Amino acid sequence: MKTFIPVYMPDFSGNEMTYVTDCVNSGWISSLGKYVERFETSFAEFCGVKHGIAVSNGTVALHLALLLKDIGPGDEVIIPDLTFVATANVVRYVGAEPVLIDAEPFTWTINPAQIKAKITSKTKAIIPVHLYGHPANMGEIMALANQYGLYVIEDAAEAHGAEYKGKRVGSLGDIGAFSFYGNKVITTGEGGMLVTDDNDLADRARFLKDHAMSKEDRYWHPEVGYNYRITNMQAAIGLAQLERIEIILARKIEIAQKYKKELEGCHGIAVQPEANWAKNIYWMFSILVTDESHLNRNELMSALQEKGIDSRPFFYPIHQLPPYSGARGDFFVAKDLSARGINLPSYPTLSNLQIEFVCQTIRELCKCR
Ligand SMILES: *Cc1c(COP(=O)(O)O)cnc(C)c1O
Repeated sequence: MKTFIPVYMPDFSGNEMTYVTDCVNSGWISSLGKYVERFETSFAEFCGVKHGIAVSNGTVALHLALLLKDIGPGDEVIIPDLTFVATANVVRYVGAEPVLIDAEPFTWTINPAQIKAKITSKTKAIIPVHLYGHPANMGEIMALANQYGLYVIEDAAEAHGAEYKGKRVGSLGDIGAFSFYGNKVITTGEGGMLVTDDNDLADRARFLKDHAMSKEDRYWHPEVGYNYRITNMQAAIGLAQLERIEIILARKIEIAQKYKKELEGCHGIAVQPEANWAKNIYWMFSILVTDESHLNRNELMSALQEKGIDSRPFFYPIHQLPPYSGARGDFFVAKDLSARGINLPSYPTLSNLQIEFVCQTIRELCKCR
């Protein structure tokens, strides 16, 4: 049988089945039930904040975060050019306009040095993205946000447990948004969470995610709300995943170190960086194909696929996508990273032998043995 190494697969070797079975047996399968609260409390604790508000996916977590501050038509929200499309789309959902910022060459995240020039009287918020597991430069971003009175939503969908100067992502801005999609660091199938220390933001998020129903008066809805709830079954899986997250993160970091070691001296490839102030959790271990490689990025990906090794190209920069093609700016770094980047297999049960096989194949294909 031909081997196939996927980019990602979840690891359900803990209490996932036990907890889900408990939901089904007890009949508590919808959004009421003990697992939702347990998942929220444990995840907030994991991030080092007071509140966790579980929602149906990471995109609605970001949407809700914007709604909490009434960001809407006429407002601008600063986001990185190099990110998953959801970061930009949520800004449009509320009728505001995303303002794109180029990536930083060393961290691949939003370049804080370019933010100031894009702040106008319309700017209301910044959404830094902790891309592929590397935290954005939150110190500089928060300094700007404080100076200009901007709201900061961390898009931490790809970086559960990553740290900026010893503090976990999600606890650095005003609010943090996480995703638990199937290929994320931990998963609930579909799912998401907002985390915050702010009592008012947490209360309002709970209110809006449940049809904006009055706490005192059932079926009284003083404004238009949303059904952004998670189910007890999803939270049950999430709780089981969370019980093992430290093991999962430790393995992911080991995987990255192994990749780096195996690819050392291969000039056709540059490996995913880690700033000295950062703890990168390497959601997807990533490489850049350099000019010294025998094959270009797309050729390398096809050749890997033929050898049974799955990979993903980096996201297109947002400014290249049709809905955002009017964006002003140059975005040299984001464009370059996007054209050269590949995410390699990074799931926690990937073996060292498999990593050696992937790296040996890459070295042969790039002719950098
Ligand atoms: C996955 C992801 C999201 C959206 O999460 P979903 O749960 O898929 O809705 C948002 N931002 C980034 C950067 C992501 O990677």
